[in-house]
Amino acid sequence: MPMPANQSAAVNHFDVVIMGGGYAGLVQALHLTRALPGASIAIVEPRTLEEIAAIDKIGESTVEIAANFMTRDLGLANYLAGTCPPKYGLNFHWAKVAEKTETANDYFSSWVPQGPKIPCYQLHRGRFERDVTGMVEEAGVTFVRAEVSDFTFGEGQAHTIETTAASGTQRTLTGGHLVDACGRAFLTARKRGTLRRKPEDLFGLDSFSSWIRVKGVDPSIIAAIAQNRRSSVSGYFATNHWFGDGHWVWTIPLCGDEDIVSIGVVAHRQRHSPKDLNSEDKLFAFLAEHHEVLHTLAKSGEVEDFKALVRPAHITDEMLGEDNWYAIGDAAHFGDPFYSMGTSSIAFMVTSVTEVIRAKLAGEKNADSKRAAFDEFNIGWGRVAIHTIRDHHLHLGNASAMSWRIYFEYIWWFGFWVPLFIGRWHLDPAFLRLIKPTSQLLMPEEAYEDLTELVERGVNVGFADPYREDVLLGPDFCPPKDDTVDYLAESAYEPQRLNIYRALGMTLRKSAWWVLRFQWRLNGVTGVLRPRTLRRVGVMVGRSLACTALALRHDLRSAGKKDTCLDEFDREFATYVPPRPSSVTES
Ligand SMILES: Cc1cc2nc3c(=O)[nH]c(=O)nc-3n(C[C@H](O)[C@H](O)[C@H](O)COP(=O)(O)OP(=O)(O)OC[C@H]3O[C@@H](n4cnc5c(N)ncnc54)[C@H](O)[C@@H]3O)c2cc1C
Repeated sequence: MPMPANQSAAVNHFDVVIMGGGYAGLVQALHLTRALPGASIAIVEPRTLEEIAAIDKIGESTVEIAANFMTRDLGLANYLAGTCPPKYGLNFHWAKVAEKTETANDYFSSWVPQGPKIPCYQLHRGRFERDVTGMVEEAGVTFVRAEVSDFTFGEGQAHTIETTAASGTQRTLTGGHLVDACGRAFLTARKRGTLRRKPEDLFGLDSFSSWIRVKGVDPSIIAAIAQNRRSSVSGYFATNHWFGDGHWVWTIPLCGDEDIVSIGVVAHRQRHSPKDLNSEDKLFAFLAEHHEVLHTLAKSGEVEDFKALVRPAHITDEMLGEDNWYAIGDAAHFGDPFYSMGTSSIAFMVTSVTEVIRAKLAGEKNADSKRAAFDEFNIGWGRVAIHTIRDHHLHLGNASAMSWRIYFEYIWWFGFWVPLFIGRWHLDPAFLRLIKPTSQLLMPEEAYEDLTELVERGVNVGFADPYREDVLLGPDFCPPKDDTVDYLAESAYEPQRLNIYRALGMTLRKSAWWVLRFQWRLNGVTGVLRPRTLRRVGVMVGRSLACTALALRHDLRSAGKKDTCLDEFDREFATYVPPRPSSVTES
């Protein structure tokens, strides 16, 4: 039988070798084939297509950045719309009283009222990776079905990658650029000693997770209740979070046709022990004790698999190395699945890596300073993502505190981070140098301390539903959502028409307003007038004014530019001659 072309022993050197063909490795390869059609690329991945298609991965819910990346950069809009269930945002639920959790009616909830402007999807990871493997192969990427048994950094020369197939066959590859997408094998981080997993390196985050996938469940157990809130989208086809003391539980539908649902717990060691969640039976017992409605949901179907991770969070000190190597996906960082940020972080990393490889292959002089800026950004983003989870063990079970916290984090997500990605501002070194978007200065540290104060005092400051119009007041203070930023649509044609300075200015003003409203509810007028509050609000307003100036500068600089797809369309349309109406002959 002739050997498939891509297994020919003759070619062993590639422009890019990607170690690991999971989500990160596959989307990196697909992105490179789109951006650099001439580059030779190999992926080393031991799993067979059958093994890939079996569900053995976690990470199903995508949010706006990942979704925008998959549709706009990877061209997967048709595939996703035709294959994957939609994701109608995030719903949050807290038991009204801890002892009664039989139905979703026993919870205080925030329900997404309508579909998102940027369509998001739920992924069945096995099927997604199987299908993208096919697309990547079709695009000319070489698959080496083997494990990376060792590798050596090139230090100025090509990197060397030793591979061993299941049959024992060994093959040595060399690569001009090396991408570590081997997830929790931490291949590059272990060699370089850059892996950090201790809570003290992760803002105190000390969590663990267990989950099951269940087939043939009864969706009405969750779906029916959303209708009570007159939501125009299915509550079942959202990602639902169910909270308790020191833990939360997700429910995510994976495919519409077979009603497979993923149910998982994230718990914090400060409140729970991994020993109480290390088997399927214990997970069921946990659900029965804390969330009876989810126990009923899980019991309505047939369990496909159980998995647990005792230490999901980590970060590495280097992500885009000086010597043409890169760590992406779980090989680089992961915090917590709370906001489903894993695949969005991968979107930041993959687009950064592609741009550096492109600049280096093109011999651009500033390629390495770009790499350094992107390395700093991605490490900083990893820290921001982990910081978003700090003190969760204190806040999760308190509906009032946690709803205000989510509201605040939504302001930043929709106001700044989503626009930043949509406008591809993370690929603009000048912007990264000017704003330092991931620096400690932008991190709203003290908001978390206020929330802890609220929890400790045990007061109720109301429920800040991120989907309701009446939480913050005034025209500038509508709920944080994905159409609050101008030019979201136009940015599809020319990313930087999205004026990130305007978006940041608005985010800072909303944050300042959040601080005032929160203090008003927590401490009344003394809270608003206390020096700490005034100082914080002053800093935010001052920064937002600086952003207004930068926004105007950006408008002026962009005003004369007439070279986008939109302008091209306008020029072409100017030559359009409308047809004259044909005369009607009356019979
Ligand atoms: C509990 C939990 C829930 C999550 N939920 C979400 C979510 O809802 N949404 C979201 O966006 N993210 C979520 N994530 C994060 C998401 O799972 C990860 O970001 C994502 O899976 C990382 O993909 P990856 O390709 O880096 O790693 P992986 O998917 O683990 O892929 C690594 C690949 O490398 C291969 N490999 C390993 N060792 C070798 C070797 N020596 N040689 C060759 N190949 C090798 C493996 O076979 C595998 O295919 C969640 C994470 C956790 C822990």
